[in-house]
Formats: sequence, C-alpha cells, structure tokens
Amino acid sequence: MRQLLALPLVALLSLAACAEPPPPVVPQAPAPALPPLPPPSPPPTNTAPAPPPVEKPALPPEYADVVIRVEKVAGTVYMLEGKGGNIGVSVGDDGVVLVDDQFAPLAPKIQEALKGITDKPVRVLLNTHWHGDHTGGNAAIGAGGATIVAHDNVRARMAAGAPGIEFGGKLQPATPPAPKEALPIITFHDKVSVHLNGEEIRAIHLESGHTDGDAVIYFTKSGVVHMGDDFVTYGWPFVDVSSGGSVRGLIAALDKIAADLPADTKVIPGHGKLSSIDDMKKIAAKLHDAWNLVEAQVKKKKTLDQVKEQKPLAKYEEMTKGFISADAFVTTIFNEITADASKKPAAKAAPKKK
Ligand SMILES: [Zn+2]
Ligand SMILES: [Zn+2]
Repeated sequence: MRQLLALPLVALLSLAACAEPPPPVVPQAPAPALPPLPPPSPPPTNTAPAPPPVEKPALPPEYADVVIRVEKVAGTVYMLEGKGGNIGVSVGDDGVVLVDDQFAPLAPKIQEALKGITDKPVRVLLNTHWHGDHTGGNAAIGAGGATIVAHDNVRARMAAGAPGIEFGGKLQPATPPAPKEALPIITFHDKVSVHLNGEEIRAIHLESGHTDGDAVIYFTKSGVVHMGDDFVTYGWPFVDVSSGGSVRGLIAALDKIAADLPADTKVIPGHGKLSSIDDMKKIAAKLHDAWNLVEAQVKKKKTLDQVKEQKPLAKYEEMTKGFISADAFVTTIFNEITADASKKPAAKAAPKKK
C-alpha cells in the first residue's frame, strides 16, 4: 500500500482505469449490420402476437425455418411467400423481373426458390415501397446483376434511414440508412414500364397511401397486379404516417386500381394470400365505412378518447386479426381527419366511392 501511495497520481489513475474501464461510448446509430426493418410485419395467424423487431445481425432463428412457397399466378407471373412482403416474379426468355425481396437474411432462400422456376438471372428488381420487409434483399439481388427500380421517395427514404417511431404503444426501432448497393439506381415519379418477357410491366405510383413512395406493379398481359402494402389481407391496414402515408390515399388507390383493371385481374397483396379485384373491393368498402364512422364522430366534436370509447369499428371484428387494432386504426383516421381540418377551412370530403 505504501508503495502504491508512492506512485505518482497519473499512475494511480491509470490503475483505476485498468481495474474498471469506463463504460463504452455507444454511438446512437444502430449497428450497420442490422437489416432495415421499420414496418411491423403482420403475424400469419390471429393468435400470434406481432413478431419482435429483428435485433440480431446474423441469420436469426426466425428466418432459419422460413420456407419460400412458390405459386404460379397467371401468364409469366409467380408469387413467392416467405416472411415479409409477398414477392411477384415474371419469368420468361428474357430473364426474371422481381417485385420486392423480403428481408435481407432470406435472399439466399429466395434465390434458391427462383432457381426452382428458371435458370435465368434477375434482370430487374422493382420495389413497391421502401420498408425493409420488401427491400431487405436489395443489396444481394442487386449484387447478382439486377437493376433496381423504384419510386423517387423509395430511394430517398432508404438512403436517409428513419428514426424509431412509437406505434401502437410499441417502439419500432430506427432504420439505418441503406448501403449504396441496396438503393434503386433508376427512380421514377409517376410511372415507368419494363418491357421484358413479352409484356409491359407497369409500375404506377398513386397518391400517398401506405407510404409516399408506393408503386403498384401491373403485369399487363398476364393480368396480374402486385399491390404492395396498399392492399393487405391481414386486417386493418398499417398506414405509415411517418413515411408520408395516408388512409385517404390508400383507399383512393384501392378504388382506382379496382376500377381501372379488368375484373378478372389476379391480385398479389403486400401481405396475405393471392386475391381478386373483388376481394380488394370488399376491403375498400370496409375502409370507406371505417373512415365515415370515425368522421361522423369527429363532426360531433368528439375527442380521440371519446371516439375510441364509442368503438365505432366494433362490427368489423374480423379486421382485428392482424397487428393493427381497431383503436390504432381509429387513431390514424382521426388524426388524419383532424389534421386536414386544421390545415383547411373545411375538412375534405371522405374519399369518393366509385
Ligand atoms: Zn409489408
Ligand atoms: Zn410496408
């Protein structure tokens, strides 16, 4: 001890430092190896709770058992289901046109599934929007030589990343900026067409719905449309307001596509089983009604809490099987209506029903 006391002060300090290192300075930004995952992914059944956010850099166990299911839809088009958004695939002599690519760790499984359909490479990859359950595989698919194409806002949002958001009482983790390799290299504002496999594959941007960068992909000759997350079958839809989304716009997008495309068009939803135009119309009708029911309460000058107490969407029990509760959807609609009202002298009319 005497000897220790004899040590100069600097040495003492460094001893203390060795004994107990200071807590590491943790940078605020999330680890770059994290796959981008902002949107809560809907659970496949009505009993399972929403899956926790992915927090592991390596292939996490929740991906290890994922099986990529391949379904022939019509014409050149297949649908791939795994975990995350549905994937649309056009297969033909020219190669593969892919629509979305789920989560990054699944890229090898997706590529393996594609090999079961064709030996041609992916020529073009279209993203329906920027969420990580639709763009996670971009870097891997792009590295294989595919040209990534998406709406201007998809590239902008992927490049910027996003802070964590609180949603439905849970904090969704922040999304780090995507690496350059994952970004679309061709972007468009309103529409773009890919001419491969004997048909025109149209990417059409509609007004802000699920996000502000949504594209609906229409395979004109095959008679198939991939709706991205503007159309999901898990229940009340997730409208990502923090990414510029709008309930009003989402309903308008469903109305427009259902009205514009032939009635026998096959519909690939962002999440859920292969559907029809009629299925989409049925969901759209419920969304219209939900909007109107909430709007009626707003007109009575009810507060959000009072509207929730009224349970205006109680009759649509089947729409609560996903991860968006009736209260959460009421809140989103309420906020949009009241925000509109504060911006303009009179609230906009409800989306027109066609
Ligand atoms: Zn999604
Ligand atoms: Zn999404």
